[in-house]
Parts: sequence; C-alpha cells; structure tokens
Amino acid sequence: MKKTTVQQRQVCCCCCRGDMCIVVVVSVYIFLSFISYWALVVFPWRWWETFWGLLNIIIFNTIVALMAKSYYASIVTFPGAPPHPYKPPHLSPAQLAEFMDGKYKPRKIFNQIAPFEPRWCDVCDNFKPPRAHHCKELSSCVLKMDHYCPFINNCVGYRNHKVFFLFVFYASVGLLMLITTILFRIISDVVVKIDSVHPIETLIAVFHVAISLPITLCIMSLCTHQFFSILEDCTSIEGYLYDALKKDSRIKKRPFVWIFDFGAARNWEEFFGTNRWEWLLPVMPDHIAHGSGVEFDYVPGDEEEHSVVVGDGVVVDRMEGGSTGSGRWQDSEDTRVVVL
Ligand SMILES: [Zn+2]
Repeated sequence: MKKTTVQQRQVCCCCCRGDMCIVVVVSVYIFLSFISYWALVVFPWRWWETFWGLLNIIIFNTIVALMAKSYYASIVTFPGAPPHPYKPPHLSPAQLAEFMDGKYKPRKIFNQIAPFEPRWCDVCDNFKPPRAHHCKELSSCVLKMDHYCPFINNCVGYRNHKVFFLFVFYASVGLLMLITTILFRIISDVVVKIDSVHPIETLIAVFHVAISLPITLCIMSLCTHQFFSILEDCTSIEGYLYDALKKDSRIKKRPFVWIFDFGAARNWEEFFGTNRWEWLLPVMPDHIAHGSGVEFDYVPGDEEEHSVVVGDGVVVDRMEGGSTGSGRWQDSEDTRVVVL
C-alpha cells in the first residue's frame, strides 16, 4: 500500500497577492536564518569545541529543516475538495427535490447536528459534506476547512492541517531556541562579561531579538490555539459554534458536549495518525491520505443537548460567511437546511 498520497496544487508565479505573502515569509525566513546562523555559528560560540555546542547546532538545524519541509508541504498540498456531485447520505429523492425547490429555510436554531444536515453551495453547485465550507480564494469547497492562510496562499483543511500545524510548531520551537541563545549571548557579553564580544555584534543581537520576539509570540499564540483545537477536534470555523454551545451549557447548568470530541487521545490519533514515529514528521497520516473527508464519527445525543437557540440567527451568519483573525472564508449565503 502506498504510504501517502499527497495531492499537489499549482503554485503560480509571485505576481498575485497570495504568492507575494509566500515571498515575504520566505524572505523573512532567509533573513532570520542568516542572522541565526551568524548568531549561533559565527558568534564566538566555539560550538565545535564542546559537546553541548555541537548538540545545539544539530538540534537547531534539524528544526529548521523540518520547518521548511512542513511549510512547503502546507503550500503544495491541496486540503481536499468534496466529490462532485456529492449527495448527502440518507437524503431521499423527495427531500432532494424539496431542497432544490428552496422550500426549506434556515432554522433559528444552531445545533451541532447541523453539520450533518444538507447544505448547498451555490458557487460549486454541489452539496457541502459535513464540516466542509466554501473557500473564496480557492474557488472550491474545502473538506473539514479550518481557515484560509495568506502566508501559505492555501486553505488549511482535511489533508494539509497536520503539516500546517507542524510548520507553526517548528517555527515556534526554532524561534524560541534562537531567542534564548541570543539572549544568552547578550547576557554573557553585557552582564556577566565572560566573553569578549564586539559591541556591534551585541547591537545586532539586540536588534534581532527585537524583531524576532513579536513574531515568536504571534506564532506561539497560533500554535497554542491550534494545539488545543486539535485535542478537542474543533476547527477554527467551528470555534464559533463551540463557544456558543459552551456558553449555553454554562447558563443552563448542564454538561458541555462537543459531538466530535472523543477525548484528547483519540482526537490526537485522528489528527496525527496511529504511527507515533510519524507524529512529528511532515507526512500525511494513512487514514487521511486514503480517507474520504466527508464522513465523521460523532458522539450520539439528543438535539436538545447539542443545540443552542439563537433568535436572530447571527451565529449562523457568522458561521456561514464570517471571518477569523487568521483567515477568511465565504460560504453560500443560501444556507437552506432540510430537517431529516
Ligand atoms: Zn463551494
């Protein structure tokens, strides 16, 4: 059996807005890498003389290589599109006809069962599978869409979410390691004065920390958010529904249930795969590579337990056409729902 099936997508020249973002990221990456190597190697670190210095260089280079591979994979891997035509399971011909006639209107109830109810995309002229949303930038519905990221000029979804997370993870670890190392150099030079470092080198080190620190904090914040979302099996788009349901459960003093959450351990394997040797490698898990991306297990329960009423449907509107701080998406405004 083939290990992974990575669907490649075309990356056009840098004349368009999205690929300009990639150019910016790569430029910053090369800039920081150049200074990083300078700080770690050319600085009188004397890494070749000590075991810990050598180990430091090996670990840092490994992280940089894994980050670059993850970044490339998240750019070229298509997140996955629904089959065309896609017909929701259990939809009878009569229900299908009623749906196409537009007889059903969106319900004023926002529930977790909604992802399993038929939704239609006017742009793709196709039904949306559960957890799929339309991405304006890709002009396609995307399986288990998380968000669109301009820095990879791609949508993060079913097939490339793992490599995107690893990119963010390795970027966080690498930058943290870099800042720690440079701060150590500054302290050695300015405070302890155990090394004889030229003042210009110290100035550049301080400048480098000033640039890297905000970038590091932003990336670590994204990494932390993604990490906990993975443990709860909740995408960024579904975060609005998740928050609304959690608030409603708190008000009504009842246990909070997220229907895709089967516990951190299972959610972890659902995201990273069962082969623990591949967890930290930028490769697609087998079940994702060969999975359809349209079928998801969910925790059974009654609709009352899994639902929250929103009088004006505002949350539904945000869910179907809103935006997040880390990306954008656009769904069809026609959110007709069939109650099966
Ligand atoms: Zn679509």
